[in-house]
Parts: sequence; structure tokens; C-alpha cells
Amino acid sequence: MKAASPFSFPVSPALAAKLAKLGLARDADLVLHLPLRWEDETRVTPIRDLLPGQTAQVQAVVREARVAYRPRRMLTVSVADTAGDVLGIRFLNFYPSHLKLFQPGESFRFIGEVRGGFLGLEMVHPRFARAGDDTPLPDQLTPVYPTTAGLGQATLRKLVERALSAPIADTLPAEWLAALNLPGLETSIRLLHQPPLECALNELESRRHPAWQRLAFDELLAQQLSLASARRQRQSRPAQPLPGRQRLTAGFIGTLPFALTAAQARAWQEISADLGEPHPMRRLLQGDVGSGKTVVAALACLQAIENGLQAAFMAPTEILAEQHFRKLSPLLSALGVRCAWVSGSQRKAERAAAWQAIAAGKVDLAFGTHALFQEAGSFARLGLAVVDEQHRFGVGQRLALMQKGTEPHQLMMSATPIPRTLAMSFFADLDVSVIDALPPGRTPVVTKLVSAARRGDVLARVREACLAGGQAYWVCPLIEESEKLQLQTAQDTYVALTAQLPELRIGLVHGRLKPDEKQAVMAAFQSHEIDLLVATTVIEVGVDVPNAALMVIEHAERMGLAQLHQLRGRVGRGSRESVCVLLYQTPLSELARARLKVIFELTDGFEIARQDLLLRGPGELLGHRQSGLPMLRFADLERDVALLEAARDLAQRCLAGHPDIAARHLDRWIGQRQALSSI
Ligand code: ADP
Ligand code: MG
Repeated sequence: MKAASPFSFPVSPALAAKLAKLGLARDADLVLHLPLRWEDETRVTPIRDLLPGQTAQVQAVVREARVAYRPRRMLTVSVADTAGDVLGIRFLNFYPSHLKLFQPGESFRFIGEVRGGFLGLEMVHPRFARAGDDTPLPDQLTPVYPTTAGLGQATLRKLVERALSAPIADTLPAEWLAALNLPGLETSIRLLHQPPLECALNELESRRHPAWQRLAFDELLAQQLSLASARRQRQSRPAQPLPGRQRLTAGFIGTLPFALTAAQARAWQEISADLGEPHPMRRLLQGDVGSGKTVVAALACLQAIENGLQAAFMAPTEILAEQHFRKLSPLLSALGVRCAWVSGSQRKAERAAAWQAIAAGKVDLAFGTHALFQEAGSFARLGLAVVDEQHRFGVGQRLALMQKGTEPHQLMMSATPIPRTLAMSFFADLDVSVIDALPPGRTPVVTKLVSAARRGDVLARVREACLAGGQAYWVCPLIEESEKLQLQTAQDTYVALTAQLPELRIGLVHGRLKPDEKQAVMAAFQSHEIDLLVATTVIEVGVDVPNAALMVIEHAERMGLAQLHQLRGRVGRGSRESVCVLLYQTPLSELARARLKVIFELTDGFEIARQDLLLRGPGELLGHRQSGLPMLRFADLERDVALLEAARDLAQRCLAGHPDIAARHLDRWIGQRQALSSI
């Protein structure tokens, strides 16, 4: 039996597979497969008018083709136009068929960049097609599409042309478009596939052309619709309401050695109110490193517990989960809360006992890593799950939390500040609370950029700081290519520092240590049995040792901005002046230089994240490879803020009053690609 083609014209299975790689599964996808750029094939330039550096098309006849072997094997073709002027053509990669093709007297058109070669002007690897003087020239710019191996431009062009032969219905009413000052969909799409000659190429290529703006808007609208409907769906599902009873929360606030900051109090109020709703909460608590998210999360747990339900507190690493447990459980136990700790480093029997107590409802609050909670165990009555350092998991991870029995409320926390536009687009299905100020009494971290050549001075500084009663971190370089090498480097650094700083107590922590070894080192550092902690980037998230006021980061030029900001956030937690020394190795790449400049000049995590977005684009910032969210192809969150805001408003109106339009629009843009599932 032959499967029905999702295209309106025959497409072989082999071709369909290639198209699928580009996300093209039906006519409508081809229609939206827009060119990367365009080439001007509408004119032929006489060879004598060619200028080096220019991209041009010539019409010429082959005079001679031969294979040369020096300086390397290549095919050289000498061609001449009707005026008799000669141009050299060179192919460094070629097949025997090429030699047969370029028979003397045959006529071709070549398009490529002109170079001043050793023997006069030439083109290297031009595109070419057989064409005589009388072969008509196109009267439109030629689109160049994003493609994949084995799928040529010509084939792709033909397919797109076929898909374009049907009329394109607009998904949005004309009055709306007029109000938004956007052109029609059909006009926009046809213009981009086949721009008329008078179209300014630079405007098209910069994507500021109204036709691009229309597509960017539609894409953003689809994203907003899909997220907003996921959110509506969630708000129609039931969950156990957990209203504030002040039985535990008030007591906890009373035992804290500090008052909540205004920003913490505001975030806490939002969360507390949300937990009282009879629908599952999905709230993201954002706050820069050190802004004090943990106590707010603890309060949320207490509100669940005072309603007779259980809470889970999850962290991405064992170090961090353990730290939360150690810090919070004494405070909470004093209030009568039964805490438990589930860890990969526990003995089997111990872990089983912990799970058993959780399942029997004898535990109110369980701490552990995300991984653990996803793989095993069940709670007697889980009311709230706190997910710390959510950004470590990419956006999509938030979809994957267990849902057993009643649906738990979720509080996600992130210290990777997300710029407003990103939050508005990719997190539109979540509610967001922001802690936008640090607790008082923090002295800002002083950042120093120091060339690796001055490592000796830095060592002296570390010695001095530790002998004066302080503590320090020494962060080893990130070696992305090899974990083994990374480990080696950390061990070498440890050995070297131990020799160079014999008067200090030095510890080493890295990702390959067994969880209990890791814990032991961290505990020793916490209790100041260790002065200097040599660490790989495992300490990047969440570790909180206020007495450590000096951090040295080796090969800072290899690290990303978010990572540097996170690392630097490990110091500056107490009242003493903190210093972060970024050791860098010259020469610096352009990007590394730009990053170091940003981290040196800025301390505000949001501003750093905004710069990061500019330097890297949203995909990497969100970790989209695991995210499952469709990335934006046409819209640019920096450039198209106004469009994003308009799309957000229209999505609300659409869902409230025009579900048919919403459905039509979503089908056009998302179609069979998996729509975001509701969380
Ligand atoms: P993060 O938001 O990075 O998770 P933490 O919750 O670890 O930050 O808090 C950082 C430090 O600030 C902790 O030592 C914590 O006890 C302290 N802290 C939290 N809130 C306040 C506050 N309102 N006043 C003073 N210190 C606070
Ligand atoms: Mg934290």
C-alpha cells in the first residue's frame, strides 16, 4: 500500500526524507521555507567590465578545458565572451563528468566572485548552467534557500514553486493587519520567494522589509498562541489549593537572622497567593545570584506543609541538594517539619528507607537531585515541587516533571536572569516573580582582569587573604573537549598550588569525586577546615560559603558569560569586600575579548544576560537543544520587541474572542510539528 503523500504533488520517499530534515512535511511548510539570500541573475556582465571582488554573471563559450597538476590537481577552463575577452575558471574539486561537460565551443553562464588571478581575472568554483545567448534571463532575483546535503537549490526551487502555485489564504483579518500596519501574508510570502528587481537587496537581507516583519509577527503570534493556550489549559485543570495559614511560615520568618528584602517579600506574596488557587501553579522565581531565592522557596514549602501536604526540593547537583538540606533542615525541624534527604551517595538501604518514609507520608519535605525525583519513588501527597536552578535543564525540562495522583504545584527557580523579551516569548506560559534586588550589606565584587603571565602576583594575593582568615576558590579551566583532560588539569592545579602555597590547607573538588567525597570536601570548606578550594566548574551553581571572598578563575577567556557570572556570584556573599580575579591567556579571540569586557564592566545579571543574548542569540542562552520549544526562525527578540508586544496582546484577544482564527493560525505555523504540550 502506498502511503498518501502529505504534499499535493508526488515526492519520492528519498526526497521526502531530505525535506523532513529541513522540517518540511507538507505544502504549507514549503511555502514558509524562505530564502536565506538572493542572487541577481538578471544581468550578464561583459568580461572586460568585471572588477575583482565583485559577484557577477558572465555568458561565455569554452575555449579550452584541462586538468592541471601544479600546484595541485585542478580543472582549469578558459572561456571567452562574444567580445573575445577571456576569463579563467578553476575547479579544485571536480569529477570526470565536468571535463566532458566543458567541451570547446559549448556555451555557459557562470556566476561567482571575480578574482584577480595570476593569469588575469578568474572565478573559482562558480555556479554554472548551460545557456546560449538566446536563453532568456530571469526577470526576478533568484532565491537561495537553506538546504541540506544532497538537496540542490534547483530541486528546492521547483518544489517551492509548486507549493506556491496555490493561493495562500491569510490567517488574519484585513482590519487587524491594517491596524498593525502589516502587509498581507500572500503578498509578503511571494515577495520574499521572488522579489521583484526593484526590491532593495540590503533591506531584504537585513530583514527590516515589511514582508519580513509580517512573517516575524506571524511566527511570534503562533508562539504566543501556543504558550497562552497551554497556560489556559493548565488553569482549567484542578489542583489542591494551599492557602496561606501562617502556621509555619510566620514562625519561619521569625527565626531568620534577617528581615526579608522588599523584593523577596513581594515575590513571596505572589507565590503564596498563587498556591492558594485551585489550579496547578507554574511559577518561575527569577533572581540574580545571591538574591535570596532559597528562603522564599522554603516559605513556599512550608505553606504546602501547613496544609498537610508534602513538598519536594530539587537541585541539579548533589552538592547543591545536600547544601539545601543541611542549611534548611535544622531551621525547619525546629518548627516540627520532618525533613528527608535522598541521594545517590546513600547506601541502598538508607535510600530505600527514605523513600518508604516519603511514600508513607512520614516525611514533609524531601531534598534531592532532579534526576532522583524523576526516576523513582512516589509521594504520599505531594503538594509542591521546587525546582532549583531550573536553567541548568533548558526550557523543555519543565515539561517533564512527574505527575502522579494530584497534580503538584511547581516553583521553578533560575539564577540565569532572562532578559525581558526572552521571558515574554519563551516563558509566556509561566507566571514569573522576580527578586530584583540583593539583600543589603553586600559589598559588590571587584572584578580584576589579570594576564596569566602575572599568576605569581595572584598566588601571593591568595596566600595573604587566607592567612588573614579568609577563604578562596581557585577555579580550574574548562576543557570542553575532554572530561579526562579537565580532571587532569584540576589535579595538576591542586598539586601545583599545594607546592606553591604550603602554608595553606587546600582542598580539591571536581565532578568525578564520589558524592560522599564531594560532600566531605564541601563540608570541610564550609567549616573552614580548608582555606583554598581548588574546583572545577561544579561549584558554578548555588554553593554558599560567605567567608570565601576571593575567587580566581583560570582561563576565564574560555568560559561563557552566564558561567562567569554564576561563578563570580559564589563570592561577595558576606560583608567583606570580595574580589574575583579573571586570569586570561593571550591572544584573545574577538568573542572572548567582548565577553571579558562585559563581565568586567557589568555586575547586574540581567544586563549581562542581555549582552549574552546579543553575543550568542537566544538558542544557546536557553539551551534549546533540549528545550523542545520551536525556536524562532524569522523574529529576532532584540529587533522585534514591538512586534512581540503586539503579538502577545493579539494572542490574548484571539483566544478570548476568536478561537477559530487562533486555530487556523496555529495550524499554518505549527501544524503537524508537535505543539507545545500543556504543563
Ligand atoms: P540565591 O538566590 O543565589 O539562591 P541564596 O538563597 O543562596 O541566593 O542566598 C544567598 C545568601 O543571602 C544566603 O547566605 C542567605 O542566607 C542570604 N540572605 C537571603 N535573604 C537575605 C536577606 N533578606 N537579608 C540578608 N541575607 C539574606
Ligand atoms: Mg540558589
